[in-house]
Amino acid sequence: MGSKFYGEIIATGSELMLGQTVDTNSAWLSQILNTAGVPVVRHTSLGDDLPRLKEAFKRAWADNQVTLVTGGLGPTEDDLTRRAAAEAFELELEFQEDLAAQLKDMFQRRGYPLTENNLRQAWLPGGTAMVPNPLGTAPGFALADAGRLMVFLPGVPPEMKRMVKAWVLPRLREQFPDICRRFKTVVLKTGGLGESMVDDRVADLMAPGRSPTVGLLASPDQVRVLVTAEGRDDREIEEALAPTLAELDKRLAGHIFARQDNISLPQAVAALLQEQGLTLIILDAITQGRLSGALAPSLGPETWSGAQDLPWQESLSGTLEILRLYNPDSAALKDSEAVPARRCQQEVRLIVTARPDPGAPEPRPGESALMVESAVQREGYQNGQPLVRHYALGGATNRALARAANLAIFHLWQVLSGHH
Ligand code: AMP
Ligand code: MG
Repeated sequence: MGSKFYGEIIATGSELMLGQTVDTNSAWLSQILNTAGVPVVRHTSLGDDLPRLKEAFKRAWADNQVTLVTGGLGPTEDDLTRRAAAEAFELELEFQEDLAAQLKDMFQRRGYPLTENNLRQAWLPGGTAMVPNPLGTAPGFALADAGRLMVFLPGVPPEMKRMVKAWVLPRLREQFPDICRRFKTVVLKTGGLGESMVDDRVADLMAPGRSPTVGLLASPDQVRVLVTAEGRDDREIEEALAPTLAELDKRLAGHIFARQDNISLPQAVAALLQEQGLTLIILDAITQGRLSGALAPSLGPETWSGAQDLPWQESLSGTLEILRLYNPDSAALKDSEAVPARRCQQEVRLIVTARPDPGAPEPRPGESALMVESAVQREGYQNGQPLVRHYALGGATNRALARAANLAIFHLWQVLSGHH
């Protein structure tokens, strides 16, 4: 399907021109077409006027691939759509015997006399397909060639809507399977790897023309991997996504902290703390509040405690921030507000310190060259030995400290999720 595939809506009826009827049909039809994958590029609205109707039909047929027309299909003299369509496309109006029989039958069952003008509705332009109208007497009709579809529908909204759902939408899907495709993007959020490192691991999956498409979006704290697949329905889309997602899981193992764009790294950490019933204690000697500032909003109640009773004290320099972040949803806290209950919770400690990076040249003013250390320690884990990581961070001090906080949080996430 070429990219130039557009829709048009034509609303007819002098009552629209007089302002007596508000054209709600066009709005409804537009939503339907756009949702079905046909961008609507023109609304035409005109009165019951034969030359103008013919011209509008011809122009729509020439310009756009899908046109839906409403109104003008009734039995009265001013309902000109059938004739205008026949003349515009040089088709003969043909009397449809079976349609006439249906009309007669319907009128008989309803106990109305069938007048001659009711039988007007049995005349349709030759070569068009009849579009049944289950709720009324006036059927619609459709003109089509390989690349185009023009459907003429009644103006009465409930009749028109029923016919769109029962006939037009299935027909669109059948005639133009490609336009009815939908897209879904899964966002994998990764930490601990720079953009070029992620690129290195997944480059072949990003080859042009490959489906699903894989793209990278890097920000200072994370690299997002966007996987987009298309299909006709959810099942087809999920099936298209699955192998690529499985491959990415393998290649980025231990780095994907979220599979939804609206989950942040601190939120992913908070979820793990909650799941495991852990209280987090942060000892932060360097980030000047960035670490706790990032984590606290996701974790809830917090208290400060002094540094005096902590054994790490001597090894730290600069401002020491100690923050105890309680896991707000833990069973222990729900049962009791009492401090002893909080103490019962298991703890995990995140300790972040830094010293000047011995391998780096003297930093310029406003910049730093730091060797940052993050240590994660958890009771009954590794015999109480902390898991330690080092990061050489340079450049603007502000940014180096923000980066240190993020790396430490990611380290904590990896330990909590068993990836270290
Ligand atoms: P028609 O099929 O043109 O005879 O229209 C029948 C009735 O449907 C009109 O009298 C209006 O009440 C209603 N109608 C026609 N066109 C529209 C429209 N574009 N939007 C909303 N209602 C319409
Ligand atoms: Mg009318």
